[in-house]
Amino acid sequence: MSLLDSPPPRSFAELERLALGCTRCPLADTRTQVVFGVGDPHADLMFVGEGPGEQEDLQGEPFVGRAGRLLTQLIEGIGLTREQVYIANVVKCRPPGNRDPLPFEIEQCSPYLEAQLAFIQPSVVVTLGNFATKLLLDTKDGITKLRGQEFPYREHGVLIPVFHPSAVLRNGGTALAQARADFVVIKRALARTRTLP
Ligand code: URA
Repeated sequence: MSLLDSPPPRSFAELERLALGCTRCPLADTRTQVVFGVGDPHADLMFVGEGPGEQEDLQGEPFVGRAGRLLTQLIEGIGLTREQVYIANVVKCRPPGNRDPLPFEIEQCSPYLEAQLAFIQPSVVVTLGNFATKLLLDTKDGITKLRGQEFPYREHGVLIPVFHPSAVLRNGGTALAQARADFVVIKRALARTRTLP
């Protein structure tokens, strides 16, 4: 957080305002807009993807393209809506041509994700694919090995890596069945860890 500003943002809205004007990396030159995140900033469940694609860059909201529709279906499959969870990405601006985000871009952008996690304090964090998993679990292991397992996260939370919805769309069949099974793991973890209202 200290990387972002001094003094650090005091509210989620202030953090978002800071992110929307960010020029910390060259993605600022090619983006249409910053895709900060969407959903309930008090959610118990937070999803972290890789970075905005074309539709997200145009609409300013994460996971609104094909992969997003699948993510929404998987969320609804465990009895929740997009409005009840929070969805963000490792990088907040679209890498041109949907290339992978570069290490420098991730490094410059990760204080925003860290600050989002610190404000939201979800009890369950779900990393979608390799980039989010490697960043938040600080691991070199790949998603195929880690998916569907629970890892301790911060004070009382758990982190569950799952396949990125784009990979599920690419691979179909078995990957979709595995994603559905992983969302049952998420549902159970949420029921166990959820903070009482
Ligand atoms: N893929 C991602 O990782 N994030 C999005 O917001 C959209 C597609």
